[in-house]
Amino acid sequence: MPSTDGSGASRDLRARDASAVWHPFTQHSQWIDDQPLVVDRAEGMYLFDVDGRRYLDGISSLWVTVHGHSVPEINNAITAQLTRLDHSTFLGFTHEPGIELAEKLLDVAPKPPPGSSRAPLSKVFYAGDGASAVEAAIKMAYQAKAQRGEDRPYYVHFAEGYHGDTLGAVSVGGIELFHHTYRPILLDTLMVSSPGILSGNETRGQRAAAVLGELRALLQTQGHAVCAIVIEPMVQAAGGMLTHDAAFVAGVRDLADEFGAFLIADEVATGIGRTGQMWAVEHAGVVPDLLTCGKGITGGYLPLSAVLATNEVYESFLGPPSSGRTFFHGHSYTANPLCAAAAIANLDLMKSNNTVARAHEIGERIGQLTKPLADSDSVKEIRRIGTMTGIDVRSSGERTGFRVCQHARELGVLLRPLGDVVVLMPPLGISDEQLGELVQVTEQSIAAVVE
Ligand code: PMP
Repeated sequence: MPSTDGSGASRDLRARDASAVWHPFTQHSQWIDDQPLVVDRAEGMYLFDVDGRRYLDGISSLWVTVHGHSVPEINNAITAQLTRLDHSTFLGFTHEPGIELAEKLLDVAPKPPPGSSRAPLSKVFYAGDGASAVEAAIKMAYQAKAQRGEDRPYYVHFAEGYHGDTLGAVSVGGIELFHHTYRPILLDTLMVSSPGILSGNETRGQRAAAVLGELRALLQTQGHAVCAIVIEPMVQAAGGMLTHDAAFVAGVRDLADEFGAFLIADEVATGIGRTGQMWAVEHAGVVPDLLTCGKGITGGYLPLSAVLATNEVYESFLGPPSSGRTFFHGHSYTANPLCAAAAIANLDLMKSNNTVARAHEIGERIGQLTKPLADSDSVKEIRRIGTMTGIDVRSSGERTGFRVCQHARELGVLLRPLGDVVVLMPPLGISDEQLGELVQVTEQSIAAVVE
């Protein structure tokens, strides 16, 4: 059994890291004591540390890896692009990878049902990370309404929601631990309850109905000033894999329409097949006005995100240059060709491998394999949509979830906790045998830590 302690190579790099680096979401007073993994290389479903130890990537390297690591088709696409065009600005210029990727994203975008009057998503705006896509989407929503003469400065969002760490994205977030510090410097927003936190014996359906009622009441008084409702469809991921019914997403869509607000579906975590559909909104048959995606777009290789918008949103930005209707927003690396090439190869591979159907299968298998765990006293609840799985373990002393993950790491499997919720979200290229190992080690680690 490997030990988290590591050999000289790990220890030396940790010491250099501690003297020079500041990590995200990390309490550095604890950092070295926690003996962080020093990753050296990756292949398929596995990461290897600098001491040569192998670990199964049970969390898709924080929910990004799609087919696996070092996938020949994506490697080759990036290499080929590298010999042609490394980078060019997308401000005032364009390039084929950026164009082709937009076409492919629109091709796989959620579609309105035939005969529906709802507008399809028909334009792609690129950003870099998930948070920057959210940032762009919320600015677009406000500006699109303003350009139609509607002054709607508020956003509605949900408690326990998470949309990234830039200030706009934090403004529409609802996780106290992450967000409360910044409240004095955030946008004015209207937050309603989480659809995923049940009280007493409440069912998910009852919770959904209650939150939709709360949302309607809020919109009845303030709806005229709301430009958009921002939702993580089907699962509030960072909030603890808090799931809700598809009917809730459909209900939010209806209320957005009724009160003239845009619906922004943040699919940064749920998109690109993770939920067993290409997009989580497809579980509900919903098409949003703005859809944000990121993480898995490039197969988990490079940072790239996008906002997909309807023509209704897009056309409000058209006018003579002097009209001021331009979307004055962009980044140095917008639509970087290497990122776009990786994303095109990823989407092509998803199509030829039928990855979304496989994601559904993986999800069902996780459901079957974790059934005994769900019935055990160590676990409060297992919440899952497709492959996105949260095992809510019974608290057993300080940092229970963390200790479960450290134990799994000693057994060669990488997991990551959200508080005491242990997350499983394997790459969609995982085999049944590897999935078996993932669940078995998770079970063993929970048994070892939770009393
Ligand atoms: N939206 C959602 C729903 C997310 O889960 C995340 C990240 N986990 C983000 C936005 C932010 O993405 P990024 O970390 O790439 O900025």
